[in-house]
Amino acid sequence: MNSPERFPASGGLKWQKVAVNWRAKQVIYLVEGRMTARDFQNKRTFPWGTSRRYNAYVDYLRQRFGERVQKVIVDAGFTCPNRDGRKGYGGCAYCNNDSFKPPYCRPGMSVKEQVEAGIEFLTRRYKVNRFIAYFQPYSNTYASLERLRELYEQALAHPQVIGLAVGTRSDCVDEEKIAYLQELAREYYVTIEYGLESPYDKTLQWINRQHDFRNWEEAVALTAGRGIHICAHVILGFPTETREEMLQTAKIVSRYPIDYLKIHHLHVVRGTVLAKWYQEHPFPLPGYREYVELAADFLERLRPDIKLQRLVGETHPRHLLAPRWGLRADVIQRHIEAELQRRQSYQGKHFTASQN
Ligand code: SF4
Repeated sequence: MNSPERFPASGGLKWQKVAVNWRAKQVIYLVEGRMTARDFQNKRTFPWGTSRRYNAYVDYLRQRFGERVQKVIVDAGFTCPNRDGRKGYGGCAYCNNDSFKPPYCRPGMSVKEQVEAGIEFLTRRYKVNRFIAYFQPYSNTYASLERLRELYEQALAHPQVIGLAVGTRSDCVDEEKIAYLQELAREYYVTIEYGLESPYDKTLQWINRQHDFRNWEEAVALTAGRGIHICAHVILGFPTETREEMLQTAKIVSRYPIDYLKIHHLHVVRGTVLAKWYQEHPFPLPGYREYVELAADFLERLRPDIKLQRLVGETHPRHLLAPRWGLRADVIQRHIEAELQRRQSYQGKHFTASQN
């Protein structure tokens, strides 16, 4: 039995108030002539302090730290309970961790060596000074506390690393591990990223996720209010869901005390169980224009304070089976922004606590 409807709105009233105050302020600006109709339409500043039509994480980091901050990916050699047999062997149907490993993560390198190599690579490429060590592949809290300390602290020892982002499953945390992250968060910028993928148990079962929505809720409840930033990850386009259910996902995640969200379209990566299913019995995937409109509709329903870390999935073309749109993620992202602009719309336009 799925559980979203059983839970009350969280933080909704506060953000509804922010949205109402902001709209009222815009009307006042128009009436006072401090903002022309053209400015009102094209150059306004949204509640997150930029003119971008959604609350982008990249802008937030720049505002918070006063400069660009870059994630440096670390592969610390973890596995996952859905792969090593504790919960399952096959993994989630869409999972292929090799499809997003950067060139500086080579087998046999320690965390310290990866951080050093990654920072050198990214400094040459982007001219950045500050970094977040991003423990990304597999489940990065799936080890003893002693092992986690050893790995995370190797990364934090680098003078240019200001914090951690830890990607994991909601069934791989407990009070002891969260208390440790809380301790780190007093000194560093710490984010934990819980893959959700979908709030519908029918979808979680279809992708063989091996945990339910309730488990994700429990992990978020355990983490919230402890100085640790919470990121969620959802996928749009599962053939198990209607378009309306996908849009409802925006309202569901808005109820929870998450700080950041990654959304991406369902794509089929070679070498996965999903690829096998797709090749045997192709299922519908969102078309390009369909996804752009879906993402814009989703953003309109999302709580405005949630910062978006990603709007679209990205896989190297050599790993990608479908859909093959032939466009880079940044181009797709611009098209989603252009769709919001075309509608004169923005993140949270249709968010209200009562809708949730
Ligand atoms: S997506 Fe994450 S949880 Fe699922 S099999 Fe892959 S590493 Fe494990």
